Amino acid sequence: MAQGVWAVAEQRDGVFRKISYEIVSEGRRLADKLGQKLTAVVLGASVKDKAAELGQYGADRVLVADDPRLGQYTTDAYVEVLGQLVKADQPAVLIMGASVQGKDLSARLSGRLGVGMAQDCTSFSVEEGGLVAIRPIYAGKAYAKVTFENSYPQMATARPNVMSISAPDTGRSCEVVSASFTLDDAAIKTKIVDSIKDASGKIDLTEADKIVSGGRGMKGPENFKVLEELAAVIGASVGASRSAVDAGWRPHSDQVGQTGKVVSPTLYVACGISGAIQHLAGMSTSKVIVAINKDAEAPIFQKADYGVVGDLFEVVPALTEAVKKYI
Ligand SMILES: Cc1cc2nc3c(=O)[nH]c(=O)nc-3n(C[C@H](O)[C@H](O)[C@H](O)COP(=O)(O)OP(=O)(O)OC[C@H]3O[C@@H](n4cnc5c(N)ncnc54)[C@H](O)[C@@H]3O)c2cc1C
Repeated sequence: MAQGVWAVAEQRDGVFRKISYEIVSEGRRLADKLGQKLTAVVLGASVKDKAAELGQYGADRVLVADDPRLGQYTTDAYVEVLGQLVKADQPAVLIMGASVQGKDLSARLSGRLGVGMAQDCTSFSVEEGGLVAIRPIYAGKAYAKVTFENSYPQMATARPNVMSISAPDTGRSCEVVSASFTLDDAAIKTKIVDSIKDASGKIDLTEADKIVSGGRGMKGPENFKVLEELAAVIGASVGASRSAVDAGWRPHSDQVGQTGKVVSPTLYVACGISGAIQHLAGMSTSKVIVAINKDAEAPIFQKADYGVVGDLFEVVPALTEAVKKYI
């Protein structure tokens, strides 16, 4: 019988990504509600030493698949190994992050296992001994409640930055177990030839705790300087609407929205952005939304927790100066 909760962690170059702590913390909460054990699962190369850290966030054991061919993510290798581990251990619930990697891996894994899967969820709960997942649909206009029938594991991914990270308990220990699996080179059809780091060293928007975004109201690429100044003062990353990206003012990696990144920071400051549904789809789960727009009727104000009706070129520099006084 399927038993236990699995939280699949994500690492890059041997460092756990923030989503891993969110997933393990949430996995702990689910395991407690189900009265089951939590296993954190780590795939990578030379990651065993770091694995025990996940015990501090609630894992009862960490299952480590360590292999040089898992050092960099490839769909084929990860699905092959994780699929074998799931079949051998038969967890009842399996969650991972809805990061770019997690979305890719979960979709292929659910296909491989022949089970249903809820993607990009914003909350989980337990009803009648099973997982219940809530996920935004219709570009965030509605929420779907998803339950799973007669197939295990019950699989879901969690939107980054939504699930809270538990305070690490440094006194908590956990068992670290080496996973046994076979990985045939022929099963890996894609090879990573090279990977190039973003030279700017910016925090990826999906992991940013604060974001200051600009839209068509910025009027030109040079004016993003005012947003960068505010972002530097409050420790935020800079994002953009599709209009700003399509105009060539910002790179596509900065785009927030339905065809850009889905973000969920603690603070989202939208400057000169009207609040089209496709933009809201990417940021409406932000914890606090501040809108600065000269049009009092702009739809963004319906989503905003705080709104300033005014010219962003006056409001943003004034805000930057005001914040400087407090830090
Ligand atoms: C299939 C599809 C996918 C899409 N995906 C995305 C997506 O991923 N992300 C996305 O953002 N959009 C997306 N869009 C586009 C979306 O529909 C909107 O066109 C876009 O979000 C508008 O960008 P904006 O708010 O910057 O520009 P606008 O709608 O033109 O708004 C500009 C705003 O700036 C304000 N403004 C102007 N000057 C100032 C000033 N000096 N001070 C203060 N405010 C000022 C104006 O009042 C206005 O509200 C998508 C559209 C489609 C059809």
